[in-house]
Order: sequence, then C-alpha cells, then structure tokens
Amino acid sequence: VGGKNSKNIQAKLVLLGDMGTGKTSMVMRFVKGQFYDYQESTIGAAFFTQVLSINKRSVKFDIWDTAGQERYHSLAPMYYRGAAAAVVIYDITTMVSFQRAKKWIEELQKQGDPHLVMVLVANKADLDTKREVQIEEGKRYATENGLQFFETSAKTAENINELFYEIAKRVAQAS
Ligand code: GDP
Ligand code: MG
Repeated sequence: VGGKNSKNIQAKLVLLGDMGTGKTSMVMRFVKGQFYDYQESTIGAAFFTQVLSINKRSVKFDIWDTAGQERYHSLAPMYYRGAAAAVVIYDITTMVSFQRAKKWIEELQKQGDPHLVMVLVANKADLDTKREVQIEEGKRYATENGLQFFETSAKTAENINELFYEIAKRVAQAS
C-alpha cells in the first residue's frame, strides 16, 4: 500500500430494473460464482461487498440489491442516492422490461449525479429462442444515451465478470 496510484476506492453500486430481470442472480453470480435456479426474488441479503483489482488500485463495491422494493418506485431515490455506479437491467425475453429500463435511465439522467457510471445490461442471453428485444435495439439505445452495453447471462456467467471489471475500471478512472 502507498504511492499515488495505489488508492483504494469504495463504490456504492446499485442494480435497477423490473422484478424478475435477474438482478439478484447477477449479484450472486458475481459475488458467489453461482446461479441459484429457483431463487425467491424477494428473499436474500440486500447487501454484498466484492473487491476487484484494477491496475494497482482496488475497487471495493458495496452492492445494494433490492429485496423486492422495485415494486415501490417511490423508494428508488433513497436506494440510488450516493451510488458511484448504476446497472440498469432488462430481460431480453420481456419487451416491457426494456421499456422499463429506459425509464430508469431517463430518471437517473434527470436526478442522478453527472459522474454516475451507468451501464445498460440485457440479461438472460441464454434464452435466445424466447428473445423479444433484439441486441441491436439495446445497443442502439445505449449508444444514443452514451452508455455502455452488455448482454449477459447470470445463468451461464456470460459477460458477468467483464461487466463488473468494466464498471470498476470506469469508477477508478472517475475518482
Ligand atoms: P430479480 O427480481 O431482478 O432480482 O431477478 P432474480 O435474480 O430473482 O431472477 C428472476 C428469475 O430469472 C429467477 O427464476 C432466475 O433464476 C431467473 N434468471 C435470472 N438470470 C437469468 C439468466 O441469465 N438466464 C436465465 N435463463 N434465467 C435467469
Ligand atoms: Mg431480486
């Protein structure tokens, strides 16, 4: 420890998106390296930490998972206050979840911190046969709004580590 590039960073990370899009599964995949198939979406600890090393710095994520509060939209500003990073998630098999993700992004852009690192995530990429949202649609929206875009699967682990490393890198650059 020591030296000007060895700063340790602590960053609050929130996940926003409709119920059932895979927020909890994504956190579990990232933190525990596992996928729990029949997870009750309202059960589970609401807070996790995970440390990633980026160059000589470490980024400690304080991850706030919702425990079903996404049903109560009025609680959202309390939830994302002070966040360094927001992951906005939709489920590729549910068009309505994509519409909802766009609303979250609009809300964060209006009310959020201009330095907030925001990423759009299309989850359940393994369910391609049930796809309702084309990858180009998600990408286009992300590009138009200056966001990074990932298609992920919490089930197969596709792009999960890549997603969190990218966020850590951007959080480290921003601080
Ligand atoms: P949350 O309400 O956003 O926290 O969503 P959950 O993590 O509870 O996931 C909702 C349901 O989708 C659960 O049955 C998960 O097992 C399932 N799920 C989550 N991610 C994926 C994924 O990437 N692929 C598939 N096939 N199912 C997923
Ligand atoms: Mg959940």
